[in-house]
Amino acid sequence: MPAVSEIQRRSLHDLPFTALAREMDGLSPVHTKALWRALYHETATDLTQRAEFLPPLRRWLDGAASHLSIDHPELAADTASSDGLTRKFLLRLVDAQTIETVLMRFDGRFTACVSTQAGCAMGCVFCATGQMGFTRHLRPGEIVAQVLHAQRTLRARDEPGLRNLVLMGMGEPLHNYDAVMTALEIISDTRGINIGPSRITISTVGVVPGILRLAEEQRPYHLAVSLHGATEEDRSALVPASRRWPLAELIAACRTYGAKTGRRIFFEWTLIAGQNDSPAQAAKLGALLTGLDAHVNLIPLNPTNGFAGTASATAAATEFQRTLRAAGLPSTVRQRRGIDVAAGCGQLRVEKSRL
Ligand code: SAH
Ligand code: SF4
Repeated sequence: MPAVSEIQRRSLHDLPFTALAREMDGLSPVHTKALWRALYHETATDLTQRAEFLPPLRRWLDGAASHLSIDHPELAADTASSDGLTRKFLLRLVDAQTIETVLMRFDGRFTACVSTQAGCAMGCVFCATGQMGFTRHLRPGEIVAQVLHAQRTLRARDEPGLRNLVLMGMGEPLHNYDAVMTALEIISDTRGINIGPSRITISTVGVVPGILRLAEEQRPYHLAVSLHGATEEDRSALVPASRRWPLAELIAACRTYGAKTGRRIFFEWTLIAGQNDSPAQAAKLGALLTGLDAHVNLIPLNPTNGFAGTASATAAATEFQRTLRAAGLPSTVRQRRGIDVAAGCGQLRVEKSRL
């Protein structure tokens, strides 16, 4: 196993363009651009054999090699769903932690779902990642590397590049705020990967200070808030983090976010049979979100070993949606993508660790 210094060693993939240019102080911008192009257009995994690198850049890279690495996680598992629309990767980081990245196809367009932490500290009872606990935050480069892995996979199949990105893999993005914002700056840079901010969604369990900071900093990404319950009692039974950031505070933060940014907020609701899928609960959700520019994404539960619940029946989901509509709240029932590849958050890692 690599030494701790190896884990903490910064990588070129941790640096947005301006930080990279600063790091390359004294070299002409031509070299920063050449390196950036190799990293993010060519999605290079080896910088030693690139004919286009001029001697000053070569020399700089040789010198930087002692304190800067690149992120190129090893592929530990690769599974495809039987319908061919979802592919799930388990990537092994330098300290042998494994994280999940999912590539999904919707109407011929590709979305990557990436992880922001190894494990998660929030402990949502139905979530495989929550059930495994928190190990560590990911560095920006470890988040960027997942997108690059998805891009390389698409390129190898002659498919168009990624169109959308969702931060809905393992971990809580707003618990790793700075690294996530740096990664998104790199990923949305028009000189490189170029996934526009309007095609990027951050999903949060409801870290109130993080939501307020996103609003304060006018971050241009979409925000999705995982609710799952419309009363404090219902929600905290599923989402222990609700005790730290109570529902009333969370909704107040969402209202502030909406007012400051003028953006619609997406609310995620995992539908669990008999637990949070009744028309009465839908009506409470409608009342809770009154006046907010909101859209609800209903996600039937993906069963996990650590939680006894089951997914709501289609009829219950339809009725839930009807009640929301009557309250003026638009909603979508998300398809369960690739359940046969354990595409629920954290589930592939759990499965592989059992082998
Ligand atoms: N930590 C963030 C983002 C990662 S989880 C968050 O919680 O929002 C992404 C989404 O997947 C969340 O809405 C989460 O509630 C949902 N999810 C997790 N486990 C699930 C499961 N077993 N079935 C259905 N949805 C699940
Ligand atoms: Fe963490 Fe999100 Fe899973 Fe909750 S649902 S445990 S916040 S990854």
